[in-house]
Amino acid sequence: MQLSEAAPMLIRYGTEFHRRGWVLGTSGNFSVVLERSPLRLAITASSVDKGRLAAAQILEVDHNGAVVRGAGNPSAETLLHLQIAQTMGADAVFHTHSVWSTILSDLHSADTGLVIEGYEMLKGLEGVSSHEHHEWIPILENTQDMVQLSSEIKQILGGLPHTHGLLINRHGLYTWGRNAEAAAHHVEILEFLLESVGRSYTLQQARREH
Ligand SMILES: [Zn+2]
Repeated sequence: MQLSEAAPMLIRYGTEFHRRGWVLGTSGNFSVVLERSPLRLAITASSVDKGRLAAAQILEVDHNGAVVRGAGNPSAETLLHLQIAQTMGADAVFHTHSVWSTILSDLHSADTGLVIEGYEMLKGLEGVSSHEHHEWIPILENTQDMVQLSSEIKQILGGLPHTHGLLINRHGLYTWGRNAEAAAHHVEILEFLLESVGRSYTLQQARREH
C-alpha cells in the first residue's frame, strides 16, 4: 500500500472516532502497514486533531520510527504501533482514549487485565464465533517511557497470540487487525463492550442500593 492510499482511510476513521468521543483533543493515533519487510507504517503525526486530519498529517515511518516521507513528528507512541504490527502480524493498529477504556483500565489494573465474556458483540472480533468466548484484555501500567512500554507489550502479547486488544492504565485502548477495516471494527466492538461492562457496574451498584 502507498501512503497516498492509507492517508484518506486514516482521515476517515479519525473523523468517525472523534465524533464518537473516542479520540478527543489530539488524543489517539492510527497506523497502517505500508510494507512488511522492512516494516514501514503510515501513522498520524503527533499532537494533531484526529477529527480534522489533513493528508499532510499522515507520515511514513521506517522500522525505527524515523520519518521517511512527510514533514513533522510522528506520534509519540509510534514505537508501540511498530511493536504491535510486528508481534501480532497486524496490518493496522488503532489507539483510542475513550472514557470507558480509561475508567475500566483503572478499575482492573490490579488484576493486570479484564475478562469480557458472554456478550453477543464478542462475535465481531476476528476468529470469535460464540458469545461464550472468553476475551482477556491485558492492562499495562502507563508510562512516558515508550521503549519500556514497547518491550512490555512484546512480552505480554507474545504470550497472547489470539487477543484483540490491550489497555494502558488510565490512558486508553490499543487494538489491531489484518487491515484498517478490521482494526476499525475492533475499535467499535471493544469500545461497545467496554462501555457495556462499565455501565453494567454502575447500574448493578444502583440496583443493590435500592
Ligand atoms: Zn495514547
